This record gives sequence, C-alpha cells and structure tokens, in this order.
Amino acid sequence: MPEILEVEAARAVLEARALDRGIARVHAPDAWFLKRGLTPRGVRSALTNRRLERARRRGKLLLVDTSNDGPVLGLHLGMSGRIVVDGEAAGDPLVYASNRAVRQWHRFGLHFTDGGALWLRDPRRLGAVELDPDEDRLGPDAFALTKAHLAAVLGRSRAPVKAVLMDQSRIAGLGNLLVDEALFRADIDPARLALTVPVDGVAGLHRAIRTTLRTLARRGGSHTGDLPREPGAPCPRDGATLLRRTIGGRTTYSCPQHQR
Ligand SMILES: [Zn+2]
Repeated sequence: MPEILEVEAARAVLEARALDRGIARVHAPDAWFLKRGLTPRGVRSALTNRRLERARRRGKLLLVDTSNDGPVLGLHLGMSGRIVVDGEAAGDPLVYASNRAVRQWHRFGLHFTDGGALWLRDPRRLGAVELDPDEDRLGPDAFALTKAHLAAVLGRSRAPVKAVLMDQSRIAGLGNLLVDEALFRADIDPARLALTVPVDGVAGLHRAIRTTLRTLARRGGSHTGDLPREPGAPCPRDGATLLRRTIGGRTTYSCPQHQR
C-alpha cells in the first residue's frame, strides 16, 4: 500500500503538473468515495471554476489548496490509490496494484479547461476524497520528526514501539514497511514496550527513521528496504532466522538476534 514515500511522489506529480489550471468539470461518480458528508453535487459546486494552487502533504494525506479561498481538497490513496495527471501516474508502485487504466477505477477526477485531467485511480476503492480535512488529527509529519518529539511519544506509552510509531495521531506517515525497516536498522524489537526504549535507543531510532526515509525514497519506494519480508528468511546482518509476528495488528518481520 502507499506509504509516505509514495504519497510524496504523488504530491510531486500534483505540484509539477496540476497547479494553476482551471477546473472545468468535476467527476465524482462514486458517492461512497466522498467522505464526511460530501456529496457529488457538493464537491462539484465547491471546485468547479477554481484552480489548484498548492499541493501539500501531512503524513499520508494529500492536501491541495484551491484558488479564491476555496476549500482544501483532501485526497487519501488508501491501499491501492494512485494519482494520474494527464496520463502520468505516481503513487503506489506496480508491485502492489495493477496500473491498468480501467475506467471503473477512476473514483474521482478533475477535468481542466485546457483539456487535461487529474484522476484518483483506485482498484480497491479504499481511498477517499474530502474537503477541508481536519489536519490536526494527525501528528507531525515523519519527515519533520524531531528527536524530542519521538522521545516524548515513546516515553508516554506502554504499547509496543511499533504500534506507537504507526499511530498517525502521534507521528503522521509511517506505515508497516517503513516502521519494520527503521526498527531493523535501529536494533529495536518491534514488540518492545515503547517507554522501555532507552535514551540512546531513541536517538538511534530517530537516525534510523531519517535514513530509512531517505534511502528508500532514493531506491524507489517503501518496498525497497534491507529487511526481507518472507517467512524463514535469514537476517542479512547476522544470519538468524527472521521472526514473523502480528504486532499492532500488522504482519511484522524482525530479527530475534540483533533487535532487542
Ligand atoms: Zn539480525
């Protein structure tokens, strides 16, 4: 599923291609895809004749400001969503979902006055569109995470460190693959209670999160980590057989040898 790196790639496509173009028509064929009381008629009247002015992101939520004090368009990619502008796609890498341009997968779209279009294409229909989303329900963005904030959120919680890192209200943007990879690099057991991570462990984890984001973005996405995600695979660092468990409700891989 798209994680923060894929959502950031989608944001960059919006910024490069979708801004400052007049919106001639809004395509909202799927009322279920519109959230928080938004209706097809409501979203059409709110966006038609405006322009997209700025493409932002907080965690995995795309936020697009609109012209003339219009609403903020909130786009959620869900499990398989992808942003397509004038036929160029960004978002979930092909390893997770088909990139076929099936018309039924176009859950939401904007037709521009110049003839181009923006689509949210989502085979699994778990994404969403909303207007003026509550951005403050999300914690600080993972790319802007400070060591002090990380220490504060870990120090307050008796939940497994993995569950705390994935809680979007505390840190926005870290998903299953990125958290497993960061904990693998930081030598921390994902099941360890958050408040038991020592001070130097927090500093190491903060570095590992930054390195993970930077390195995997360069390699091409959240699926390019060093930690193998296959049952019975050996740890690439020490050869121990990797553990596969469910932690925080998600399938979790870790090394029983070097992650403590
Ligand atoms: Zn290991």
